[in-house]
Parts: sequence; C-alpha cells; structure tokens
Amino acid sequence: MPLTILMAAGPGNWERYRAPLETALAKAGVAANLVQEAPPETVDYIVYAPSSTLQDFTPYTRCKAVLSLWAGVERIVGNATLTQPLCRMVDPALTMGMVEWVLGHALRHHLWLDSYIVNPNRIWNPDCPPLARDRKVAMLGIGALGEACARALQSLGFQVEGWSRAPKSLPGIVTHHGRAGLKAALSGADLIVTLLPRTPDTENTLNAETLGWCKPGAVILNPGRGALIDDAALLAALDAGQIGHATLDVFRVEPLPQDHPFWAHPHVTVTPHIAADTRPDTSSEVIAENIRRGQAGEPFLNLVDRARGY
Ligand code: NAP
Repeated sequence: MPLTILMAAGPGNWERYRAPLETALAKAGVAANLVQEAPPETVDYIVYAPSSTLQDFTPYTRCKAVLSLWAGVERIVGNATLTQPLCRMVDPALTMGMVEWVLGHALRHHLWLDSYIVNPNRIWNPDCPPLARDRKVAMLGIGALGEACARALQSLGFQVEGWSRAPKSLPGIVTHHGRAGLKAALSGADLIVTLLPRTPDTENTLNAETLGWCKPGAVILNPGRGALIDDAALLAALDAGQIGHATLDVFRVEPLPQDHPFWAHPHVTVTPHIAADTRPDTSSEVIAENIRRGQAGEPFLNLVDRARGY
C-alpha cells in the first residue's frame, strides 16, 4: 500500500516541491501519495516547515518522522506535541549557497572592495590588501554549513579556526570548543563567521564580553541566527571601532523592522535572510532517502537531538 506523505510546509511550497518530491520518491523506490490534506491518523511522514498551520502533532499517531525543510529547527524543536523523530535539512545545494554567501562577503572585506567601489574623493591608495594566508577566520559552528565554509575559506589560504560545542577534529583545521575555546577562536581573528543553531546555549554568543575578546576592527558575518548576537552590544562595539563591520543575514525579528538601527548604521550590511535557501531538487532527494530509510528500518539522517536543541 502506498505511503501517505503530508506536505505541511506553508504557502508556495506545494507548487515548488510536488514534482521534485514525486520524482525523488519514485527514484528511491518509495510508493507514496503526496498530499496537502489527509486524516491525521493515516499520515506516514510529514514534510514540514514552521510557516505551516500544523502546530499540533498529537493526532498524527502513525507518523514515523517529521522531515523539516529548514536546517534551523528552533521553531519546532520545543513543540511538546511533537513526539515523532524530527530530522532537519542538510541539503547539498543549501550548503553551496551558504558557501557562496560567506565567500562573497568575506572577500569583500578581505580585499577592501568597498574602498574602491565607493571612492568619491578619487583617493589613490597603492597599498595592496594582505593575502588570505595573513588573515585568521573564526568559524563559530563547524557543522554541515560551518565546515563547508571553513574548507572553502581554507582553500583560498585563510587561516581558519573552528569552534564547536563538543571537541571536534577536522583535518587541517585548528578547532576549539567550550567557553575557553571561544576566547581562543576569537582572539586575533580578522573575520568571525557565526554558523551556530539558535539554542538556549548559543543565545548572545557574541555579547559585550566576548566582543571585547575580538581583535579591534574585526569583521563579523552572521548567516546563522539573529539571537546569536546581542544587538545592543554589537552596535556599541561598532560605534567604538572594536568591530569594524557586521554583515548580517538573520535577525531577532524578521523582516528587520524599518526603525532598527542596523539599517542606518554605516558599518552594518543587511541581507534579507537570503544566505542559503533549501533547493527543491536536491532536498527532495534527501527527504526521499530518509523515507526509504524509515521504511527499511535504517537510522534516519540528520536526526535532531531534542535535548541539545539542534
Ligand atoms: P549543524 O550541522 O547542526 O552544526 C551546528 C554547529 O554548531 C556544530 O558544530 C555544533 O557543535 C555547534 N554548536 C551548537 N551549539 C553550540 C554551543 N553551545 N557552543 C559551541 N558550538 C555549538 O548545523 P548547520 O546545518 O551547520 O546549520 C547551522 C545554522 O545555520 C542553522 O541552525 C541555521 O540557524 C543557520 N542557517 C541559516 C541559513 C540562512 O539562510 N541564513 C540557512 C540555513 C541554515 P557540535 O559539532 O559540537 O555539535
């Protein structure tokens, strides 16, 4: 009997995902009906995004897993009605997008591009920017996205150091963990990239104290989550020159309110949560593979640890 897979992913996603998911399921050898509505007790799997109206998972008694289209799961992980396994999205094309965003914004600052693109006084400054090998990058979060970005920056010559919750060994990359490790990772870094999940532990990772550990003039790229940074502390550090620039893709409130000081600050660049999107073709293959695994009794990929929150 074909499985019933409920697409509960908010407006627009049915049209984007229906054909690629049906193709990927067929390719994975999974016989399934993909539906937008079904009696809850008949649903085998739920493909989910937090923009869905589905917030109470209690009646989905037969559901074997909830498969998130989003990499960040902070809006669902604490849902007390969700007792089914939750898998987050690790999508190769989403990762490519994040690598491109991080590399682009890193090179902007590394190569002093702003000073040439906007140069109204026609200043001729023949100083060459340093080479990447002369710059240290602190990658806060070295999971699926952070490690890919770390590797890409390293391939250009940047001295990348990573920071994670638990000790982690990555060939060729100096790694740190825990509170003391954060200080070591930030110290002397020219560029700081925050690719941590939003959890109670990561809230305000960059705050008045930890921003004080940074090299004066360091640049921050935040494509992780807005809550990783204390907004007021960042603004104070920018005004004091302790932080040279912040390029921010994610915010505590999105869209970023029109009157938020980030919009007007000369040393802040706002991008509207576009760093990396889940792409239907590749993510459908990940979802189909997880459903195949669920049916074969194999462990799910990208299972969220509820206690850790990511
Ligand atoms: P991931 O694979 O789960 O990696 C998370 C990393 O953060 C791991 O290295 C983890 O450490 C580390 N971490 C978690 N809690 C920590 C703590 N308390 N202290 C130190 N390190 C900690 O996640 P991912 O797929 O790379 O995604 C990261 C985040 O990117 C997502 O959660 C989401 O918020 C954000 N994101 C943003 C966009 C966008 O468009 N802006 C798109 C996709 C994702 P361990 O290795 O020890 O577990």
